[in-house]
Amino acid sequence: MNVQSKAPHEPPRRIQVAPGDNVAIIVNSLGLPAGTEFSDGLVLNHFVPQGHKVALADIADGRDIIRYNEVIGTAKGDIRRGDWINEDNVVMGTAPPLDQLEMATRPPPKPEPLTGYTFEGYRNADGTVGTKNILAVSTSVQCVSGTMEFALQRIKAELLPKYLNVDDVVVLTHAYGCGVAINAPQAIVPIRTLQNLAQNPNFGGEVLVVGLGCEKLVPERLLPAGQENNNTLRMQDEAFVGFGAMIDGIMSMVEDRLKILNKRQRETVPAAELIVGMQCGGSDAFSGLTANPALGFCADLLVRAGATVMFSEVTEVRDAIHLLTPRAATKEVADALVREMKWYDSYLEQGGVDRGANTTPGNKKGGLSNVIEKSLGSVAKSGTSAINAVLAPGEKVRQRGLVFAATPASDFVCGTLQMASGMNLHVFTTGRGTPYGLAAVPVIKVATRTELAKRWNDLIDLDAGPIATGEKTIEQVGWELFQLMLDVASGRKKVWADHWGLHNDLTLFNPAPVT
Ligand code: CA
Repeated sequence: MNVQSKAPHEPPRRIQVAPGDNVAIIVNSLGLPAGTEFSDGLVLNHFVPQGHKVALADIADGRDIIRYNEVIGTAKGDIRRGDWINEDNVVMGTAPPLDQLEMATRPPPKPEPLTGYTFEGYRNADGTVGTKNILAVSTSVQCVSGTMEFALQRIKAELLPKYLNVDDVVVLTHAYGCGVAINAPQAIVPIRTLQNLAQNPNFGGEVLVVGLGCEKLVPERLLPAGQENNNTLRMQDEAFVGFGAMIDGIMSMVEDRLKILNKRQRETVPAAELIVGMQCGGSDAFSGLTANPALGFCADLLVRAGATVMFSEVTEVRDAIHLLTPRAATKEVADALVREMKWYDSYLEQGGVDRGANTTPGNKKGGLSNVIEKSLGSVAKSGTSAINAVLAPGEKVRQRGLVFAATPASDFVCGTLQMASGMNLHVFTTGRGTPYGLAAVPVIKVATRTELAKRWNDLIDLDAGPIATGEKTIEQVGWELFQLMLDVASGRKKVWADHWGLHNDLTLFNPAPVT
């Protein structure tokens, strides 16, 4: 069936974000054919797919194309009213200069507190709260991964069923630890990520490390201060004669810890104890219209409730940084935002690319012409609160409120770094769709479009699509997400990724050399 020539069964719909925009987004799920006439007389000159832009006015060659009341590029050739606008007729401009930004000029006032919301969580000795009760075994080097995989199968079969209050056992495997320039200045990123991952609130506070024995990253470096006793095991330890003895040693260390974790009980805690990591992946033109604004509204609710909420993905905020630095709570926070942007600009430059390398074929198919348009939609996740703090990649979050945690936008790398920063709940918005999940932290997936939410009805946890069709408001979906977060954090509701056991690998960010 040729959908491009098929007459639409529903009235043509388009969304113009800001009154000054000269483009709008086509809402109809199959797109709209050439010749479609809107009630105000706008006629499409071409087929325009769902999520793609139509010109609302003639735009002469070289003139600005405006969405979100921001310039997303300039016209390549003359564009006529009713034309389809896509990456072929948009020229991307340069990123906002970092030395001409408004710094902490308009921090929003402290919002009205939101009280009375709670969830059932596991209180830790350091004051953090877990949303799951998981035993994590850290590893100091990739060499032990195969052994740990073998041990994990036995742990899950023989030990875990005896300790019913423990949700799961995970092994924090990775490619780091040896064959790396451990003293390079940037090695601090993967090392502190591993240190802080082990202390994620969902792991109950005590760190176990399995190492090999000759690696550069010594297991003790992953232990918090004061936890030096009986918490590490080296496979090269001469006490182990044969593989079986090593496995027995690991099983015994794990069982001692399972006994402790098994005594933990959920207790009622304020919503303020949520530490939410937000990111998007497989974005489309609806991301900035539906799911991200709803998540932004929800982020404002979390801030009002006293919780911590992190947004990330440097390459997806870089082109919207001029909208963020004015919102910094202090000059120091604004400086830190710029510091992270500069660091990433130079990181990309060393690799011979710029932030334009971010966009994927799927993003473009979903209507995003370039990373500027993607970024303007991406930062909608941050809501309207003051930005209270900035974290370098893998740093542990210590402040409440809205926090920018600098990470790459890569889904698994961002998720891993937000886990290291201490998130106990993850929210992921997607337009194209991804089955993404994490073993240790629940991932709530929010669809930008109803078509995706219906097709992936057993993978997507919440549909923000009705915002585009006017059936729900941003506020309604934001509140639904807030309630869903409390249910998932309490263990009352399981996200689809956990239902199916869809868990991506932890993926370290290592900007330092490999030797
Ligand atoms: Ca991402």
